[in-house]
Amino acid sequence: MHHFEFKNNELHAENISIAELANEYGTPLYVYSAATLRRHFKAFDSAFTGLDHMTCYSVKANSNLSVLRLLAEMGAGMDIVSGGELFRALKAGVSSSKIVFSGVGKKAYEIAEALKADILMFNVESVGEMHRINEVAMSMNKTARISFRINPDVDPKTHPYISTGMKKNKFGLDMVTAKEAYQTAKKLSNVNPVGIDCHIGSQLTTIEPFLEALDKLLAFREELGLLGIEIEHLDLGGGLGITYDEEQPPHPKEFGEALSKALEGKNLKVILEPGRVIAGNAGILVTEVIYTKKTPTKDFLIVDAAMNDLVRPSLYQSYHNISEVVKNDRPVVDYDVVGPICESGDFLAKDREIPELMQGELLAVYSAGAYGFTMSSNYNSRLRAAEIIVDGDDVIVARRRETYEDLLNLES
Ligand SMILES: *Cc1c(COP(=O)(O)O)cnc(C)c1O
Repeated sequence: MHHFEFKNNELHAENISIAELANEYGTPLYVYSAATLRRHFKAFDSAFTGLDHMTCYSVKANSNLSVLRLLAEMGAGMDIVSGGELFRALKAGVSSSKIVFSGVGKKAYEIAEALKADILMFNVESVGEMHRINEVAMSMNKTARISFRINPDVDPKTHPYISTGMKKNKFGLDMVTAKEAYQTAKKLSNVNPVGIDCHIGSQLTTIEPFLEALDKLLAFREELGLLGIEIEHLDLGGGLGITYDEEQPPHPKEFGEALSKALEGKNLKVILEPGRVIAGNAGILVTEVIYTKKTPTKDFLIVDAAMNDLVRPSLYQSYHNISEVVKNDRPVVDYDVVGPICESGDFLAKDREIPELMQGELLAVYSAGAYGFTMSSNYNSRLRAAEIIVDGDDVIVARRRETYEDLLNLES
């Protein structure tokens, strides 16, 4: 079941020793398990088999080309939020008829690229965007299929930075504005409003907020029907949570069953946009202890991964499980695990009990497969980590480590 496991006291990704990978490719190092990615995609997608549905993996969670290719080979569609992600998805071999384009700030050139590729749907987040899409489509002599992203004002009970479907958030349209927008869209020549969309947040650990949003969207669809606007696509976004610590998120099956029940006889094509639940627990970040440091109040492990590699702890105070890579029988120490960056916010974990570690030994940071590498930067002129995919006995360098030349490549 789990593809990151200790064998003979050494952590492995599938059949490959993490210590050997670190030795060969250096640290910090992202390691993904292909079997886990496949298992997660399959578990998710098959949970909705009772519905006419499409699973559009959210590219921003982990956009490595090899990861996208692996998912595309399994039949995944993709949810993109930029021209760059469109470029990646097409390069990975995703059929454009399985691509949906979300995001609050699409620029005209990005809209044009997506129209040229003939993607399935634009998830439109403002009235201005609707007009922009209409103009761009007109200039290309095309018609854009659109959904409006509805802000259903539902509290997903998650971290404020990843809660997106409440009145105060910048995302989507409230239902009053949306109703007018559908009527306007209906009259415009080059957009065709065929769907409704919402994405209420990320790392949800119960399905109630999804169902609450769904109820509101279905009622809204009825209202649109009375106005002669037929909605055939329903996009429920992503957001299903994963276990970082002790959370017990619902299995996709539970979500699938509840959806099937709620949508019976509704004649809707359902789109789902999972990101974290596919990639999050399919990856770890491996880091080496550079120094150990004792102050009168704290024991620190100063490691070679930092907030530029994995920003979630600094940005969202999020919890990532951490363990040694090679087991030892030294006494446990209460550590703060921190990076080399000149910010007090640069930490990976606080107050963790780990068997005493020495300089040069390795740590694994779990649940780092989503919003890990994709949120990384070169802050402090640090080279971005390499990404490795383990597939059984095979090792694929999905992204080589950056070099100093890469760092200056675009500068004069
Ligand atoms: C980020 C995002 C997703 C994916 O969210 P997860 O929590 O990773 O499943 C899906 N849809 C939209 C519009 C997003 O912005």
